[in-house]
Amino acid sequence: MYMKRQISDSEKRILITQHRSTDGKIYCFIDNEPIDDENTIQFDHIDPYAKSEDTSLDNIAPVCKNHNLAKKDMSLSEYRDKLSIERLFKSKEENGKQLKLNDVLESKFNSEYGFVVKYDYDKTNDSISLKFYSDTNQIKLPEVKKYPVFECPITKLKFFYAQIPVVNILNDGKEESEIELQPRPLIIDHFWNLYRHLRVNTQLQPSICRIEGNNPIFVFDGQHKAAARIWAGAKFLDVKVFIEPDVIKLMKTNLVAHDKLKQLRFYSSILADKLAQIYGVNWQKYMETADKKTEKGFCSFVKYSETSTDENPVKQLEAYIVESILKHSENKMLPFIAPENKTGKQYAISRDSLKKYYFRYFVASPPLDIEFDSKDDFRNQEIENNIKLLNILAEITLINKWDPDSNSTEHKKADRIYRAGSVMAWFPLLRNIIFNKLDLMASETDRILFRVISEDKWKLIEIFVNKMFSHKIWVDKDPNIDIIIGNKKSELTKDLFKDKGLTDKWVLGLI
Ligand SMILES: [Zn+2]
Repeated sequence: MYMKRQISDSEKRILITQHRSTDGKIYCFIDNEPIDDENTIQFDHIDPYAKSEDTSLDNIAPVCKNHNLAKKDMSLSEYRDKLSIERLFKSKEENGKQLKLNDVLESKFNSEYGFVVKYDYDKTNDSISLKFYSDTNQIKLPEVKKYPVFECPITKLKFFYAQIPVVNILNDGKEESEIELQPRPLIIDHFWNLYRHLRVNTQLQPSICRIEGNNPIFVFDGQHKAAARIWAGAKFLDVKVFIEPDVIKLMKTNLVAHDKLKQLRFYSSILADKLAQIYGVNWQKYMETADKKTEKGFCSFVKYSETSTDENPVKQLEAYIVESILKHSENKMLPFIAPENKTGKQYAISRDSLKKYYFRYFVASPPLDIEFDSKDDFRNQEIENNIKLLNILAEITLINKWDPDSNSTEHKKADRIYRAGSVMAWFPLLRNIIFNKLDLMASETDRILFRVISEDKWKLIEIFVNKMFSHKIWVDKDPNIDIIIGNKKSELTKDLFKDKGLTDKWVLGLI
């Protein structure tokens, strides 16, 4: 998320004057259409990487109401670029083709790219000097650069690192030729996520290339990175270049990596998608490893990755699962949950209490060692199931009942249900009841909702949740009840529940 700064009314007036065109109109930054009703003009940042102390208005532009709404948390230039990326992909699709690195070059440079690089490899001194041409006919004097050459200790392949002009690269291999080291098309989501990431972050790994004959430098791995940087306006690219490598051998190495990479586009796991968004380059690097792709695998990959500067990935995972449940548009519990760092009488429960006393029972704690999208991966279902369960609770205990401004019997009951000591006692009770009704095995206690649950089972769960909250303890006039459940010592409430007869056996009708 980029830094947003507040714009005062007087600044708005200055901006309107600045952006008023000679025809008297103000134009939307996104599509350059005039904004007819000036009262609806909104302003936002053009560039996502604005310093917080930057007081200049240069980075702010007008946007129409609809585009401002549609762009969500993106900066103006990001949103405009997103639309043009989508157009580019669409135009290829309409012609029955898929987008590749060369198409991105074409759309940026209009045939002024793919220029030849001539080289002279000095084997005795382990160095290579390169002539970068900047026109097709090689009339302009080329820029000359020299780099040290290294050798792979395993395969003896020679290579060098460099920063090269983007007009001197091409995607590796023509579609009709047999040797095509980079046969994959660009994937729009992946391209877009990397683009966004690389606009505000440094590119950590170079793209991988080869040099051979009188050609441009061919990029055969890291195509998305290269395309994203070029789209963002980069003139140079960080590369690792193999010198006249055994192409067949490289092809085999690369195809092994591709087979693994293919999975990427099929991941329907929302967690995998989220990780790709948060971790950008690191996620891509992880995708290129041969391991099966799991939450656990990714967390340890980030932990041991030398380039890692990321926050604890397990915490990120946890936070994301919880957020996906709480912030889901169908979550009926949400209005009753106090937002972060807010408490107060109007809310039934805080996020903190839910994290501490609810999610520990109903979300399998990450990181799991289960392959994304495999037959054993039920993260998506778990998130849906939690929303269902919270909705059942909201319907039975809160909706049309919770009303802190009144002193109604219904509100008093709801208030008693959500007191600190209460939730610490009935959340585990609820866990036991669901565990029993789903006929689970002891080994499954820590992943109760991590599965497909039939509608019949949900009806059953609802019946027993109703029964739990029909117990007389919730309306009993005994003042000691309120004293005990107001206490944060869960043992006291658990004993109270037992004394009053609210136990899992009672709910389940076993006594
Ligand atoms: Zn607009």
